[in-house]
Amino acid sequence: MANYNDLANLIFPNITTTIADLEKRYPKRNLKPGAMVTRFAPSPTGFLHTGSLFTSLVSCRFAKQSDGVFYIRLEDTDTKREIAGSAESLINQLKEFDVIPDEGYISDTKEIGDYGPYKQSMRADIYNTVIKHLISIGRAYPCFCTTEELNELRALQESRKEIPGYYGKYAKYRDFPVDKAIEKILNKEPYIIRFKSMGNHENKIFFHDEIKGDLELTENDQDIVILKSDGLPTYHFAHLVDDHFMRTTHVTRGEEWLSSLPIHLELFDTLGFERPKYAHLPVIMKVENGNRRKLSKRKDPEAAVSYFLEQGYPKYGFIEYLLTIANSNYEAWRNENLDKDFYDFKLSFDKMSLDGALFDLAKVANISKERMAYKKASVLCEEVKEWAKIYNKEFYQKIINNEEFFISILNIEREKEKPRKDYSKYSDIYPIISFFYDDVYETIDKSNLEWNENMNKEDIKAVLSDYCENIDLSLDEDGWFQSIKDLAVRHGFADNIKVWKKNKEAYKGHVGDVSEFLRIALSGKRNSPNLYCVMQILGKEKVINRIMEVLSKI
Ligand code: GLU
Repeated sequence: MANYNDLANLIFPNITTTIADLEKRYPKRNLKPGAMVTRFAPSPTGFLHTGSLFTSLVSCRFAKQSDGVFYIRLEDTDTKREIAGSAESLINQLKEFDVIPDEGYISDTKEIGDYGPYKQSMRADIYNTVIKHLISIGRAYPCFCTTEELNELRALQESRKEIPGYYGKYAKYRDFPVDKAIEKILNKEPYIIRFKSMGNHENKIFFHDEIKGDLELTENDQDIVILKSDGLPTYHFAHLVDDHFMRTTHVTRGEEWLSSLPIHLELFDTLGFERPKYAHLPVIMKVENGNRRKLSKRKDPEAAVSYFLEQGYPKYGFIEYLLTIANSNYEAWRNENLDKDFYDFKLSFDKMSLDGALFDLAKVANISKERMAYKKASVLCEEVKEWAKIYNKEFYQKIINNEEFFISILNIEREKEKPRKDYSKYSDIYPIISFFYDDVYETIDKSNLEWNENMNKEDIKAVLSDYCENIDLSLDEDGWFQSIKDLAVRHGFADNIKVWKKNKEAYKGHVGDVSEFLRIALSGKRNSPNLYCVMQILGKEKVINRIMEVLSKI
């Protein structure tokens, strides 16, 4: 009579390594006490989801702040859903937000670290070694059920109102005689490998999650698939083998995995592997019509990290936003430590939100706006240049043609105690400032400018020509503004809005209207950055030329 060992040898004739060999090959890491080993384990099945960036950022921070190790493992066992090129693009996008692994998968041709391979499809021997062991101790077995049989099983369980799945009395091949299994294998009947659970769904197990706290969960009794017909392991099994042999100390992953935790715990215990700590992170939600729902790939552009890259949200704004949703005490800390780097903040598990983190695009914009406003113009210029190089070629050309000029534009009302907060993302900049560039200014239709309809065209003309005749850009800002007030008064406009409000009939308008004539003439728009600065940057000659051109078209 054949035994489990014979079955294991028949299924894996070429596997000669043992679990003990693997334990030796991947020794415990020599890290200081408290150092965390965390990982991000993406599947190369599409774009980087904002929720995944959140998970990976948090995982990375926990490792870095404890002088531990953060690594990336590519979970590419679902070959049907794999999208070519997505793994590398995922890694590149993570890098944009400072999520840089100490070790692991870097690209299809590069990995770093002694605990690899870090790509699951390259780890077949490791999984097979562990599965061979499980078969040889009778805790894994081949299952020959066809899809039809499994469908029938589900229908039967539904009709009996029983828990669906492959377990206990419904697990047809669980106690199948080894001899017969060997016969089927020799007959080349297709099979998969299942884990043999000893659990009972009437039992409860207790577990401490680093974020969720003490949990009472239903014990696993499902004989889950561990090796698929394509020879690759399932997530449940592979993550466990990897987290053990890569010596992960904290499995930080999305809370959608919490329901399968009992399976993982049973597997760890069966193999005699020490359980890592688990921290199930909140899923990112959105409020819509008063209801919470998950950020959705289909409905929400902000579900994809590429959206933030394309729009040009500065990485420090977006990262900081993610930290505010990670830890409830982040913002208070930030307000008290404005001069510190946001990475000086220590994340903690007990300050994580428990029931879904709410995503708020307006807040991403606000934080970004605040932070961008305090950047030096030359620093911001570098950031914008990098962004524009990829996402707005026209803008990029303008910047590199004359960086000094662009920096002076960026410097309008910047580098002072209370800088202006005009931009919350790089893509906001060009539409606001493109009029500075002559070729863009030329495309503006001067015969169709947005003049205030209540103003008389002859008055506008008179004000503009007068300004050209008396222009003096050598004045400081106060002096210059006084010159605009004088201009206003010369043409029957009040030099002060309050004065005008009290006695509107006595004036054609007020100094603000006069500034608007100049602003529209120079920029083509009713809103522009500080008019004095605009004139300083354009210089006297251009200011006069632009106004003359407009005068000829009114
Ligand atoms: N590959 C899994 C996923 O993409 C990873 C989950 C985990 O971090 O363990 O969801």
